[in-house]
Amino acid sequence: MAAFADDFLIGLREWLAIPSIGVDPAHHGDVAASAHWLAEALRRDGWPDVRVWDEGPALPAVYACWPAADPDAPTVLVYGHHDVQPVDPVEQWHHPPFEATLVGEELFGRGASDDKGQVAMHLLGLRAHLAATGAQRPAVTVKLFVEGEEESGSPHLTRLLDDHRDDLACDLVVFTDTPLYGRDAPTVCTGQRGVYGAEVVFTGGTSDVHSGRSGGGVPNPATAIARLVAALHDEDGRVRLRDFYADVIEPTEAERADYAALPFDEAVWLANAGGAQGLAGEPGWSTLERVWVRPTAEVNGIHGGYTGPGLKTIVPARASVKLSFRLVPDQRPELVAEALREFVADHTPPGLHAEVIARGDGAPPYAVDISHPAVGAVRDALQAAFDQPVRFSRTGGSGPAALLHGWLGVPVVYLGATLPDDRIHAPNERVVVPLLLRGAEAAALLWRLLPERLS
Ligand SMILES: [Zn+2]
Repeated sequence: MAAFADDFLIGLREWLAIPSIGVDPAHHGDVAASAHWLAEALRRDGWPDVRVWDEGPALPAVYACWPAADPDAPTVLVYGHHDVQPVDPVEQWHHPPFEATLVGEELFGRGASDDKGQVAMHLLGLRAHLAATGAQRPAVTVKLFVEGEEESGSPHLTRLLDDHRDDLACDLVVFTDTPLYGRDAPTVCTGQRGVYGAEVVFTGGTSDVHSGRSGGGVPNPATAIARLVAALHDEDGRVRLRDFYADVIEPTEAERADYAALPFDEAVWLANAGGAQGLAGEPGWSTLERVWVRPTAEVNGIHGGYTGPGLKTIVPARASVKLSFRLVPDQRPELVAEALREFVADHTPPGLHAEVIARGDGAPPYAVDISHPAVGAVRDALQAAFDQPVRFSRTGGSGPAALLHGWLGVPVVYLGATLPDDRIHAPNERVVVPLLLRGAEAAALLWRLLPERLS
């Protein structure tokens, strides 16, 4: 591994210098440049089949395949993304976000952790795998699929999957966009929550009215929104949408035991949770369980009426709330959407008009069965690379794992080597380089373990 480490860093820093901010149309040229950089790097490494998919409407994605020597060996598809988040507020960065800067073991730069660092880890992993086996070809057929729209919510991913069904066919997806639990507590992630978001708008008249002349005689949309929000949870913090918990699958005892065994420092956790001053959540579940395996309803923002300086005595014409629901297996975004519409109808007072505006279709949740042999193989590979016990974890965020699982019809396992406090999506994103090297070691070993484990 050490033999390739210098090379690895030089390459990664070059790639991180390309500002591939997918959500900003002004940077779409950079997203293309980033895709071509990766394609070149793969060709340099000897990948025999490398393509940039840039026929639109999706931003350029990179596909590569390195067939196994044994035609009967399993095929693994590694998923990652090369688009990055915007960098504002740029003045809060200690180093320029697109001049990757190495400080000790940490490499600072946008995309260092999410997700270019982890994709580069797989390039290194394959080089190490071939070096370790002394073979010209890997022990499994390795395909790499690196999209350019993940930070935009992967709007054209289904189209890419459909257009390239044969290329992407595989026996297993290795999803590489999630962190370890901690530097001294390596974990194998087994699932991500889904998400559904919507805005609820209550409208009364066509304009704000005088609270003296009309107040008391007309319904107040802001009061109604406040009542709706207050009704969303019961006293215990459980969500009151109809059948919200009906499809929830609880984690196994083995998973819960692993979560309980992970080191948990409340003060540190709260500091990383925006400096929150105390824990809250559903009784009967630990904090990790609340954010990993329990569904939520969150108020993202409430808007309505006059909030400027001084007083303005009105009854507002309109008020609204933005909501997001994090979902766990087997909840379905479309059923939550339906239950929300019903809930809003039940909480719309006479004289007000209600509207529910969905923010896209949402993303379904995903979790892999922990008894699947590929999960055991990832765990063993990480255990060997990190030389310590590896427990199960999940992540509370959302991604396209369920979509990949649904379209490709194969299980998705997670291999990541970054940290939850890498400040992804925030100023001063970093990655801990020795962890990426261990992740590459784990990938190199995983390709050796899989033929037997999946047979
Ligand atoms: Zn990511």
